[in-house]
Amino acid sequence: MSKYIYPDAIIATAGHVDHGKTTLVHALSGVWVARYSEEIKRAMTVKLGYITIGLYECPSMDSEFRIISDGLLKDGKCPNGDEPALKRKVSILDVPGHEVLISTMISGISYIDAALLVIDASMPVPQPQTEEHFTALTIMGLNKLIVVQNKLDLVNKEQALENYKQIKQFLGNTWAKNSPVIPISSLHKVNIEVISTLIDKLVPPREASGGDFRMFVLRSFNVNKPGTSPDKLVGGVLGGTVIKGSAKVNDEIEIRPGLKLGNKYEPIITRIVSIAIGNERIEEARPGGLVGIGTELDPALTKADSLVGSVVGKPGTLPPVWSELTLEFHRIEKPGDQALRDVTFKPRDIVMVHVGSAAVMGIVKGFHGGKLDITLRKAVSTEQNSKVVITKQVNNRWRIVGYGILKD
Ligand code: GDP
Ligand code: MG
Repeated sequence: MSKYIYPDAIIATAGHVDHGKTTLVHALSGVWVARYSEEIKRAMTVKLGYITIGLYECPSMDSEFRIISDGLLKDGKCPNGDEPALKRKVSILDVPGHEVLISTMISGISYIDAALLVIDASMPVPQPQTEEHFTALTIMGLNKLIVVQNKLDLVNKEQALENYKQIKQFLGNTWAKNSPVIPISSLHKVNIEVISTLIDKLVPPREASGGDFRMFVLRSFNVNKPGTSPDKLVGGVLGGTVIKGSAKVNDEIEIRPGLKLGNKYEPIITRIVSIAIGNERIEEARPGGLVGIGTELDPALTKADSLVGSVVGKPGTLPPVWSELTLEFHRIEKPGDQALRDVTFKPRDIVMVHVGSAAVMGIVKGFHGGKLDITLRKAVSTEQNSKVVITKQVNNRWRIVGYGILKD
């Protein structure tokens, strides 16, 4: 068990719906990440999906891109027949690209090391969610991006070059202006080894972190099949990303904000009974991987993502719980985007508030002198001075309008 190689970075997809994010994750990993009946029916990613991939060196491959991932292994071998040498593992988080799911995307990227911005080469740049996702990555302070010019099989050389020009123009003078732009076809698995090699090259392994264990919950499940007899039921499972410290099987944990009793929230205390990455049981959860934590909780408490947005830590170490926020508001400015510039807040306006992996609805109480007061429908647990991303409907579309710094 100690031989398990722990993933050492988290890389999220980003980009407009249908540009090929999920297909790219399939090309990299060889499997379709979590597909739910709803997703198959709507042919669209609805929930956050995550998977861990191995990065392997193929020593004698005749290319400067010799690091491949699971999706390029053929019968366990490198494409050139080499024996693959496992170098490291990374976790890939697949986000939805549809506009109404922007909150899910923002929650997902609250703690990532790099992003793969997937752009459909056959469409003008930027498409609306290409822009929104890029804004979200920018607010989060990300500084590592690989731009993926996908669906190259659908365009001719001139179109590809024109699209490339538009991408460079879009990234203009931003933090991502020097990010590599890699032409690929996810569907036909062309140039996927360039992506895996660049992930290895550009995303250094995250260093072990000290401090108290802290995890953001991205998914929560009841993993029991209907009709399981009570003595066979397993406790609720939390899926998420460890942002610092570590935790082991048998450790006691606290979950905040917890359960609402009357007007107050009662933290949930439970114990870790298992830790897993994918199907692999491991002993310790730490930063870098997207982990599943089995608990002693009644699975009714964790079913259907009901604890998404919670934070988990050792008892007594978690930040305060807030039902009302006072934010120092910072507007997003985009040249030529008058609608965004005109955004304001009136009492009773509805906004979505994102902090850590939480995305909760809020009702505006007031907006004076750059201070935005919001009452939350559901509490969040976070530190003072946290960065809070605000989305609001602008011309019937949910858009990131700014962020706030949480004040007392
Ligand atoms: P997402 O919404 O960004 O996750 O996009 P998907 O991965 O679900 O892909 C949307 C559609 O584009 C699907 O029908 C894919 O088969 C198709 N697609 C993805 N990548 C490529 C590609 O490289 N070439 C072509 N021709 N189609 C692609
Ligand atoms: Mg998708």
